Amino acid sequence: MKDIIKQSPVDYWIANRLGIEIKNLTQDKLFNIQLDAFRETVKYVKRESKYYKKLFSNIEPEDIKTKKDIQNMPLTCEQDFMGNEKEFLCVSQREINRVVTVHTTGTTGRQKRIYFSERDQLSTIEFMRVGFSTMIRPNDAMLVMMSGGTEGSIGRSVEYALDKSGIKTNVYGSIVNVRDAYENLISFKPNIIVGIPHQIRALSKYGQKFDNPEAKYINSVLLSADDIPESLRKRISSLWDCKVFNHYGMTEFGIAGGVECEGFSGYHTRDLDLYFEIINEDENGIGEIVFTTLNREGMPLIRYKTGDVGKFTETECPCGSKLKRIERVYGRKRNIIKLFDGGELHLSEIGNAVFYEDNIVDYECTVRNSELVIEVKIFPEDEVDINTILNKLKQIDTIDNAIKNGLKIEIKILHSIYFPEDGNIKNTVVFQ
Ligand SMILES: [Zn+2]
Repeated sequence: MKDIIKQSPVDYWIANRLGIEIKNLTQDKLFNIQLDAFRETVKYVKRESKYYKKLFSNIEPEDIKTKKDIQNMPLTCEQDFMGNEKEFLCVSQREINRVVTVHTTGTTGRQKRIYFSERDQLSTIEFMRVGFSTMIRPNDAMLVMMSGGTEGSIGRSVEYALDKSGIKTNVYGSIVNVRDAYENLISFKPNIIVGIPHQIRALSKYGQKFDNPEAKYINSVLLSADDIPESLRKRISSLWDCKVFNHYGMTEFGIAGGVECEGFSGYHTRDLDLYFEIINEDENGIGEIVFTTLNREGMPLIRYKTGDVGKFTETECPCGSKLKRIERVYGRKRNIIKLFDGGELHLSEIGNAVFYEDNIVDYECTVRNSELVIEVKIFPEDEVDINTILNKLKQIDTIDNAIKNGLKIEIKILHSIYFPEDGNIKNTVVFQ
């Protein structure tokens, strides 16, 4: 019998807050609420934030009446507040509960700080609770393999979100040594694992060596990262025979931004707290994801450029939701690889090809003139068939064309069960 796909709890959350029945929840109704909240936010930042007071000196909140009016507003990017964060603050420093410092990549090594009030944090926890209800059942045990320990970390926020829910949580932190992580897994026996895509794939792969029958207790995995190769998701889901949900998050959202439902057809977004847009769309509707915080108290952001590339869908979700969703996040704009012959592709396309080979647990990509060097990591006793990866890479038109133009691909193999400890856990591309 085919499982009935339950409608995303995100829709129930929105309908409840709007005080309407779920069957009456439409995109138009939601947009009107978002528009009111957008106007209120502009009013608030014009009053409380030094930066926006100046930027919006010629903008009257009452004049924002349509989507087009929003699209005509100025954008905000991270350079606007780096080193200038206090100008964005809308409450006194005393009312700030949590400050997250994000190290930006690139040569500058600069940092950005995002400030949250207690109310902002509670709002994130509320949405996490809603998102988790997609996949948890009473008395489940959850293993969180993402940063924990400190107040306001992902792990701690998950603990708060699930407090009093009857769910037992164990915050392990992100994986450094796969063997140690695996031992933790088999002793805790989680029903749900939350983690970083390639790390969790490595964990499932490691367990396979021991013909790990106990892993049957795993029902769901929630992955969080900026782009998740489909081949990676399929691998985890078949090894553990579980559902693999993706989450779209970033610090500026207050961690949580959107989560898939059982229909696995795009992210149901946190629309009462965040207003999403896609700008500079190409002919396929793919462009940069931009968002505005709608109820943020500490450091609201208006039309903030995420640096992520994505696409919306307005088709009805298999779960029955009629709301617009983010269909796909392709990853960071800076991870677009420009090849010597002018061809462009996204790092996630390389990831998809690389993770197609079962034994790969991680990879790193370097572009040097007409050379593409891919270093793949496998467990010490494993082997890898380089031709499988090369053939899969050649199926990407951009790569195939570049090979004809003289692109050389080198694949290096590294044997290890360790992941970097420095917190740099996302796949990136290095240009030399
Ligand atoms: Zn859905």
